Amino acid sequence: MLPVLIVGGGPTGLLLAYSLARSGVGVRIVDRAAAPGLASRAMAVQARTLEFYRQFGFADEVISHGLKMEYLHLRESGEEVATFHLGSFGNNLSPYPFSLSYPQDEHERFLGEKLRALGVAIDFNTELIGFTQSAECVTANLRRNDVEETVEAQFMVGCDGANSTVRKNLGLGFPGGTYEQVFFVADVEAAGACINQDINLCLNATEFCAIFPIRTSGLQRLIGIVPDPLVSVEPLTFEHLQGHIEEVFGVQIHQVNWFSRYRVHHRVAEAFRRGRVYICGDAGHVHSPAGGQGMNTGLGDAVNLAWKLAAVVQKRASAALLGSYEPERMAFARVLVDSTDRAFRLMVGRDLGSRFFRSALVPHLLPFALGFSAARRAVFRTVSQTRIEYRKSPLSEGEAGEILAGDRLPWVASANNFDALRTLDWQVHVYGAASARLHGFCTSRPLHLVVHHWTDDAEKAGLERDAMYLVRPDGYVALAAPEQDLGRLTGFLDRWSIKARLVPA
Ligand SMILES: Cc1cc2nc3c(=O)[nH]c(=O)nc-3n(C[C@H](O)[C@H](O)[C@H](O)COP(=O)(O)OP(=O)(O)OC[C@H]3O[C@@H](n4cnc5c(N)ncnc54)[C@H](O)[C@@H]3O)c2cc1C
Repeated sequence: MLPVLIVGGGPTGLLLAYSLARSGVGVRIVDRAAAPGLASRAMAVQARTLEFYRQFGFADEVISHGLKMEYLHLRESGEEVATFHLGSFGNNLSPYPFSLSYPQDEHERFLGEKLRALGVAIDFNTELIGFTQSAECVTANLRRNDVEETVEAQFMVGCDGANSTVRKNLGLGFPGGTYEQVFFVADVEAAGACINQDINLCLNATEFCAIFPIRTSGLQRLIGIVPDPLVSVEPLTFEHLQGHIEEVFGVQIHQVNWFSRYRVHHRVAEAFRRGRVYICGDAGHVHSPAGGQGMNTGLGDAVNLAWKLAAVVQKRASAALLGSYEPERMAFARVLVDSTDRAFRLMVGRDLGSRFFRSALVPHLLPFALGFSAARRAVFRTVSQTRIEYRKSPLSEGEAGEILAGDRLPWVASANNFDALRTLDWQVHVYGAASARLHGFCTSRPLHLVVHHWTDDAEKAGLERDAMYLVRPDGYVALAAPEQDLGRLTGFLDRWSIKARLVPA
């Protein structure tokens, strides 16, 4: 029987398939489209995603294809009113203290190639039309060029986007709403003072519009809100908006390569799992594109579910492990949808409060607030998704120093402590000294033991000297306890029937 059937070959499905295939799990991935998507859609790749890519060994390759966005310029009628050096916000918080601009279509092609190198290709033109499930398996009905096929799989994952067939067939509600504003997106060739390697944002009482550079094409990506008088124009073309955009940014647009408009929803599915069927990515949550979080959240879902599915399929952990996917990812999706909703309303709302926020607070108060390093770090941790934690997960236990179980293992630059995470396996980290008992335990179990020197950096990151941190394959701390507490470590590993794979770093 097929171990895992993945429905949908967008970024979420591709990364899930890659992670599973890389762990040696049999996987099939189908997509009803005829070929990979050509729309550039999501541009921003956040630091947490790059940290996962580092674990897979291809972060540097992705970075070389994209463009680091280190500065954000706030503009009004083409004039700069404030500049923020985003690149310094995340210093010492992540090896990747920036957002990367990398168009989604190129990103999908990249992931598709990585997947093909593992011997798995997307079955295009293949649509999921229905399924049933029993205690033992999922029976999926696929249609390819009018020919129907039945596939039995141990698990099925719907990565089939906002209109997910999987979510609908499970009868899961998708509560939330739709914003009244209409977004536009365009890839253009332009000239002017704000055509540079940075993010340029125009945020004033009546406007919200942003320009990002696209490295590979040399084009600029524009996103913004269609002004009220144009909302009902049919058909709306870029020419209707051109004058408005040229005035807002003080640019001249020479050519338009792609233009689209769309409505934005904010919704979270009422469950992410029923029995042997899971949903990931836009199938489970959608929200405003402001903040560049959507695709990154889907990629985070994929990473979270992949190692758990692999461990259960390969009998390296109890099936109960899979019960932690929904509470971990749904809690974050809800926080994200609420926070992007609040931010989005402030950015585009027509009420007096929102207008005041855009025209007075952002250009004047924000530069002052961001003069404080605590504020800069908070912004980086939120946007980069390095703030995500699973403290309330059934899989999180204990605390040591400022680190609570469920937190992402903090980055300690002087120890280069993320390199050990390349094993994509369970491991124990100690910063300071590990006793002979702990060494003996890890050798006999067996379990990776990673010992780093105690440094000021480790202390600043909130770690406790000589404490023991059991780290999950996705880089989150599962157990934090005193180094001597081997009983607690044994109890944790046995409760979840965890067996490490012990792949060399
Ligand atoms: C214009 C635009 C701009 C955006 N900008 C950003 C941004 O800047 N930053 C950001 O993070 N996000 C952005 N997003 C959101 C981002 O594109 C999505 O979050 C991301 O594509 C979600 O990936 P996914 O793999 O979950 O779903 P999708 O990319 O929607 O992929 C779903 C796949 O499933 C397939 N499928 C659907 N139903 C079936 C079926 N029954 N059988 C087989 N296959 C099926 C589809 O063909 C599709 O290929 C933007 C979105 C849009 C539309």
